[in-house]
Amino acid sequence: MSGLIQPDQIARIDRIIDKYANFIITTHVNPDGDGLGSEVAFAELLRQRKKTFSIINNNPVPENYRFLDPNQQMEVFNKDRHIELLTSADVLFILDISDWGRLRELGELVRELSLKTVCIDHHPVQEPFADVDIIYPEASSTGELIYELLKGLNARFTQRICEAIYTAILTDTGSFRFTNTNPAAHRIVAELLEAGINPQKIYSNVYENQSLARVKLMARVLGGIQLEYDGRLAWMKITQQMLKETGATLKDTEGLADFPRSIAGVEVALLFMELEDGKVKISFRSKGNVVINGLAKEFNGGGHAFAAGASTDGPLDTVIPNVLQRAAALFENRPA
Ligand code: 5GP
Ligand code: MN
Repeated sequence: MSGLIQPDQIARIDRIIDKYANFIITTHVNPDGDGLGSEVAFAELLRQRKKTFSIINNNPVPENYRFLDPNQQMEVFNKDRHIELLTSADVLFILDISDWGRLRELGELVRELSLKTVCIDHHPVQEPFADVDIIYPEASSTGELIYELLKGLNARFTQRICEAIYTAILTDTGSFRFTNTNPAAHRIVAELLEAGINPQKIYSNVYENQSLARVKLMARVLGGIQLEYDGRLAWMKITQQMLKETGATLKDTEGLADFPRSIAGVEVALLFMELEDGKVKISFRSKGNVVINGLAKEFNGGGHAFAAGASTDGPLDTVIPNVLQRAAALFENRPA
């Protein structure tokens, strides 16, 4: 299978792993299946090469991804607790993100310490990010790139690695529905199935493991859906009040933003979430005809062409009309 990662890049990673002993692995805030699965698979490679490593993230592992980390090796970043470890580490591998803003306090500390960094990611970037960048926006997922890297480095594809990469590709392609679904994703997954992973078990862990609070929140959020621009834009909001009343937390919102795309005629979906500190997180989704990461960038965010996000100052009631107004440009000269 011809891959995206070039042989010289594989050789470079090989040399880095050979040369150094202590590694840290991290991913973006609110880690998803792609970030977490990629971390687990990459960590297993380091284990096979008898290296010392820690996986440190800004947030805990969500309930439905805990099966990826049965021994609870993933740590939640705490500056006081981790400063020594980060100071003595040789290299930080940053997976599924190439934006310092989404690495929060961990990212700040890494830059202060000028730790050597390697990034493996599939988000579009404008400029170099880490010391070594292996960034391919045409990859379905970071999991796909980790697969290529592990193949290139002759890793042993254990069940753990296979399950982790499958989870990464499954979740980031929206179960092989989104525009990033590509032949490589299917080829890799076919090979993982041949290696004996159980797709039903993984599906059940990831998608049949939701809290009742999440389902109640979903009902509230979907109940409040509104359409604009002749039904081409759908938007929804989640207030702190709604979280309180349903007993849900922000973690329970993953995947909610994708829902309105199922409505006939809707091209773009927006989800506005009021955060505890009064800021607003916005999720942007597109069915694939309208590029929305430009709009996300106008609000300090970014992401993929058809799935992007941003965090901006509130209040919610100001942000919503502001974003909706700016969204008008998406539909100009585009007859419905
Ligand atoms: P979500 O809406 O699920 O949080 O994010 C969808 C995609 O948008 C993510 O995969 C990521 O690429 C991007 N994204 C989300 N939030 C931000 C953000 O605050 N900044 C940037 N640059 N990208 C984001
Ligand atoms: Mn990803």
